[in-house]
Amino acid sequence: MALDAPSQLLSRDYTSVWHPYGRDSDHEALLPITHGAGALLFTEDGRAIIDAISSWWVNLHGHAHPALTEAIARQSTLLSQAIFGSCTHEPAVTLAERLLALLPANHQCVFYSDDGSTAVEVALKLAMQYWHNNHTPRTRFLALEGAYHGDTFGAMSVSERGVFTNSFGELLFSVDLLPFPGEPSAEDSCLAALDAALRNEPVAALIVEPLVQGAAGMRMYRPEILDEMIARVRPAGALVIFDEVMTGFGRTGHLFACQQTLHQPDLICLSKGITGGILPLGVTTMTGAIREACRTEDPNKTFFHGHSFTGNALSCACALASLDLLLSPACTAARERITERHAAFLGYLRRNYPTVASRHHGTILAVDFPHEVPTGYIHPLRHYLLREFLSDDILLRPLGNTVYVIPPYCITDEQLYRIYESMKRVLAILSGSAPFTLANKQISA
Ligand SMILES: *Cc1c(COP(=O)(O)O)cnc(C)c1O
Repeated sequence: MALDAPSQLLSRDYTSVWHPYGRDSDHEALLPITHGAGALLFTEDGRAIIDAISSWWVNLHGHAHPALTEAIARQSTLLSQAIFGSCTHEPAVTLAERLLALLPANHQCVFYSDDGSTAVEVALKLAMQYWHNNHTPRTRFLALEGAYHGDTFGAMSVSERGVFTNSFGELLFSVDLLPFPGEPSAEDSCLAALDAALRNEPVAALIVEPLVQGAAGMRMYRPEILDEMIARVRPAGALVIFDEVMTGFGRTGHLFACQQTLHQPDLICLSKGITGGILPLGVTTMTGAIREACRTEDPNKTFFHGHSFTGNALSCACALASLDLLLSPACTAARERITERHAAFLGYLRRNYPTVASRHHGTILAVDFPHEVPTGYIHPLRHYLLREFLSDDILLRPLGNTVYVIPPYCITDEQLYRIYESMKRVLAILSGSAPFTLANKQISA
């Protein structure tokens, strides 16, 4: 591309494209990307940006990974898409078999969909269908405060109420949101609220993001408390849904967060990293009991759910190639290396910024940057932080004042250190030990 002919991409984009969560003020920080390689995204004007958030938590092995692009190319010469209501094919069946072999033994069946939100919708609808088919209908769901399960109506309903859902509140079904059990004191109130909810009304299912709540700001809680919650839910007959859309495929150090709990869920939602983050695909896995209850001849009990692109062969082939990479010793070593680097950086922060809250679990690191106004997704600091990191050629998308790193596993040590250095630089500014580089008005905007 000729650098002397500035592209019109950004202005053409502004005229005709609407971006996710996009506000007008976000457009000025939009990156015109030509290609990617490893953990880097390259812009039209020749910048190499470190993708420190795996392009919204999806990318596992880097951009344009040859093993994945070859798997897609090879599959595309055979079959890309065949109506899954009438057909089946090798990639979809093999992927189901391989996923089930990695998941808890009680999971015996895979339902395909398109993305994380649809994987959650399928889990919620299967839970309701299960009660409809088996027993007296149950329609009550429990979730955690701060939950994020997607942007469709069912997924929004079981999520925290806030700016994401305010305009739609009247049409969302009501759920019991239990206090988030992040602190020891909150663990007790969470369990007490859980007991009260279970006494109140028959519960169809409890849905959680296991161990790490993503959109709430990478908030973490102990596997022991999750086990205790499940132990109390089970005697009431309620189902348990683990939304592993973010935590799945190695983010927490283990392949899945459910490997860290003793009690296993009845339904698991997967997406994001499933294809290595290259193509969209959603998966909901279920126990044999749910499959038996919902796979019937009775039209009043049939699970009438499907999407045009269910079981897309390209996505499945890509997911199989990604699994090969994920299960390789090199990838396991890379995840351990990232975990160690995060832990060392956390040690540095705790020594030098003892009042700054920070945490990590596996390859996920989060730091709450100092601020003076109450926090939330639309935090004024967010804009400032995003631009500061971009000025260091690092793509981080803070959640409010929480800066988190969730890198592709192929990220190099040198790239990780550049991310940490940039975070240190901005922390020094916000702690008053270095001057502001951008106008103060952006903090209070
Ligand atoms: C991202 C996410 C979703 C929604 O997935 P989409 O693919 O964006 O629809 C659901 N649950 C969790 C935990 C997520 O992180």
